[in-house]
Amino acid sequence: MKRLTAVILTVLALFAAPANTAGAATSAASGTASSSTSTTAPSSTPAETYPHYLEENQTRYATYQAQNPSLPYDKVIAFVNANVDKGFYSIITMVSEPAAINVLINKNFALPRDYEPDDLVHIGSGFRLRAEAAEQLTKMKTDMNDLGYRIYVMSAYRTYQTQYYKYENGAKNYGIAFADRQYARPGHSEHQTGLAVDIAQRTNIQTMSQARFENTSEFAWLNDNAHKYGFILRYPKEYTDIHGFIYEPWHWRYVGVDIATTMHNEGIAMLEEYYGRYIFSRNS
Ligand SMILES: [Zn+2]
Repeated sequence: MKRLTAVILTVLALFAAPANTAGAATSAASGTASSSTSTTAPSSTPAETYPHYLEENQTRYATYQAQNPSLPYDKVIAFVNANVDKGFYSIITMVSEPAAINVLINKNFALPRDYEPDDLVHIGSGFRLRAEAAEQLTKMKTDMNDLGYRIYVMSAYRTYQTQYYKYENGAKNYGIAFADRQYARPGHSEHQTGLAVDIAQRTNIQTMSQARFENTSEFAWLNDNAHKYGFILRYPKEYTDIHGFIYEPWHWRYVGVDIATTMHNEGIAMLEEYYGRYIFSRNS
């Protein structure tokens, strides 16, 4: 975490630097406003306007922008930095620090098969989470109860083997395309990190009813407040093409209060975008 803090501080320093020159500040503002008009040559270089711009990704930015014309250019840069433009499961990177609270796990970043967190604690009903996530979830649930909201945990930590059977079962019964929308492949599930939790408003309900969680006041409250406890909605509705799953209003991921709050305040909906801005950038 120390290293991450250092990275963020460096990035913040870079954000602050160009503000001294009026020209850079103006072009930064217009660059953000006219997101899809990247054909107009800016007065400053992209690297000056976008602190997370990487020269070596220039061609990929252009390609990805052409494929996603409505996506603001600063998000294009961030997503490409996080390899979102590569096909799902095409280039698999094993994460070097699987126990990092902010670890990025998706269809291209995987956990080692034998990774099991060493600080799992029981959170009731046979579910387990890593200690920090469990503590924050308990705090959040207590505060929600005080306000009259009720949430229940439907799933939390899962082993590589459990995920393997879940995915294999789905693929066998409904085909690979279906399984890939519904379940992460083993090693690619956030549930193996011990930092993800599936939440519902009622107990003992199935996935399809879980989708209705979106329409509850509990979900609305989480959207406004979960970041204060370090949780983010991991698979938002408007980015299904990017995360590659169905929309999952029930799946919440603990990333720590600092990152969750930054994402909330800066309108960063995806952990991939956060990584592309602050971790997989030239400052890392
Ligand atoms: Zn889940």
